[in-house]
Amino acid sequence: MTEKAYYITTPIYYVNDVPHVGNAYTTIIADVLARYQKLKGRDVFFLTGTDENAPKVAAAAKERGIETKQYVDELAGQFRNVWETLDVRYDDFIRTTEQRHVDVVSAIFERCLSQGDIYKGDYKGWYCVPCETFWAESDLVDGKCPNKECGRAVEWLEEENYYFRLSAYSQRLVDHIEANPGFLQPEFRKNEVVSFIKQGLRDVSITRKNQGWGIPVPGDPEKVIYVWFDALINYISAIGYLSDEAKFNSIWPCDVQLMGKDIFVRFHCTFWPAMLMALDLPLPRVMFGHGFWTTDGEKISKSKGNAISPAKLAAELADESGASRQVAMDSIRYFLCREVPFGLDGDFSREGFRHRFNSDLANDLGNLLNRTLSMVGKYFNGNIPDPGGHSGALKTEILKAGSTAGEACERLEFSRALEAIWQMVSASNKYVNDSRPWDLEKQGRTDELAGALYSALEAARAAAIMVSPFMPTASAEIARQLGIGDSFEALKWADAAAEKPFAPGTKILGPEPIFPRLDSKKKVEHLALTPSETEGGGRGQEPGKVETKPEETPKPQAEVETVPYDYFSKLKIKIAEIKSAEKVEGADKLLKLQVSLGDEERQIVAGVAMFYDPESLVGRKIVLLTNLEPAKIRGVQSNGMLLAADVDGRAVLLQPDSDVPAGSKVK
Ligand SMILES: [Zn+2]
Repeated sequence: MTEKAYYITTPIYYVNDVPHVGNAYTTIIADVLARYQKLKGRDVFFLTGTDENAPKVAAAAKERGIETKQYVDELAGQFRNVWETLDVRYDDFIRTTEQRHVDVVSAIFERCLSQGDIYKGDYKGWYCVPCETFWAESDLVDGKCPNKECGRAVEWLEEENYYFRLSAYSQRLVDHIEANPGFLQPEFRKNEVVSFIKQGLRDVSITRKNQGWGIPVPGDPEKVIYVWFDALINYISAIGYLSDEAKFNSIWPCDVQLMGKDIFVRFHCTFWPAMLMALDLPLPRVMFGHGFWTTDGEKISKSKGNAISPAKLAAELADESGASRQVAMDSIRYFLCREVPFGLDGDFSREGFRHRFNSDLANDLGNLLNRTLSMVGKYFNGNIPDPGGHSGALKTEILKAGSTAGEACERLEFSRALEAIWQMVSASNKYVNDSRPWDLEKQGRTDELAGALYSALEAARAAAIMVSPFMPTASAEIARQLGIGDSFEALKWADAAAEKPFAPGTKILGPEPIFPRLDSKKKVEHLALTPSETEGGGRGQEPGKVETKPEETPKPQAEVETVPYDYFSKLKIKIAEIKSAEKVEGADKLLKLQVSLGDEERQIVAGVAMFYDPESLVGRKIVLLTNLEPAKIRGVQSNGMLLAADVDGRAVLLQPDSDVPAGSKVK
């Protein structure tokens, strides 16, 4: 028997509007998870779809003056288009108006009715029309709908309806939750579910008056089946429940059901598992309720008009940076996965997004690829050299990233996974700095040069494999530039650590910057070799600087404003000698340096930890701006600013051409 497919679902989306960044989140995460599981070699089934049977859908269509069927067809089409733009590759898209779904809902209704899980009763109580939900008097908040997203007036309703006997399942639900610690995630939402169940579950009215739209109750066409009872069934109707037993058994139970926190407790962790229990079906392995996004600190709402369309944002980003539209979309996917631990609420700020784009994508990942390919181009004529016995210098880093990021993805900790991959990328950039290929070339140490570049290419290739679930287009482009575009799609996660993955003589096809920095359209600088990589020093490079607040992306030197000599003469710049260096706790970019200016000692904080080992700096002469206003950085006092060349965000220290005493003035 073949292995059961790894089954991932998103909620089916209610067709009232096209998705924005906030509600595209679930689907993007589902796609990342699906791609990751495929990359691990598993069979995957990824389902999404649209929820189309609500009476208010008919009302919305009427308002637009079109047939309801035409209305839902259009919206379902728009959803598919958005997922295509976001490069979401689902295996099936179910619409609740499809016959395959309607048949299963009707059959389940009849079965539950015959076995007593559904019964007929009179309803008298409050009803919220927008939420299509009945509420008890005690549920109401100030006499209004208790749904936090709603809060609207409720109306009194008396009608005969069918009920699902949810109350009968309280104890079984609690037992299941307690016996399966991973069932409800993240952990902190579990308590909310348990206390909701323990306060006593009431039976749920699962029918409404038939207003000409929805699935009619079998044998009682005056009524239609309540949208939630109908909608939840999509998770099994789509995979062959009651129609294709073999298919169903090869997919169910579900491995991960993803959803926003608003539909987690009541519908997915209470009602749905009870329905499955009534059908004697095993429950899903994990129900995951994620947080919500705000934009620039504000709740996303239609009335505020602050809903960011991912496609629009990607278009803006592509226009500004010169990145391709698809890469821009990838970077939005990256941001959503990296910025916030999955499960928590997050804020989508343009500034935060630009920062991540420049620092993580352009400076770290982009830089590793561009500089390495540049040197292969220059030193080996664009052919990946045979490294002899010198490859694999970054093997430990690659293996570590592979296992840490892999475990994190299994636990749905996507931000952790990316963090682990980026640790490998940073270590690889540092390795290139430390191994100084430009010196190896000058010294004619060709074997070591080949080994150093080959090792860096191995890391770039490993990064391409590991980021591919998050950034499918960008990773394929990295592979293409590495000269392995044709074989890339067949690679699996474990191949990231393959021995000597490039055939000697493989022709590279880059570098062409994939993530051009957002603050400039100058692509030229990415293409050219930087002076440090050709000359072995910073000479000739326009002096940049490492700001004392290195957490922020260094700003480019835009329009150069001239200053009178008087201004310049106020800057006291001196040669200093580094006496000791250590990392600043909790800041992976910062080093705390004790420096000597001959007659005085100073402490400074510099953002060079990504590029220099603390030990390698001791004894080095640096250039220091000594009269910069003292500042506290991450709680550490800094009296002065180290000057360095800024090479696409990478700091390259300046040093005097010959030995000079500490304290010498720079004029
Ligand atoms: Zn409501």
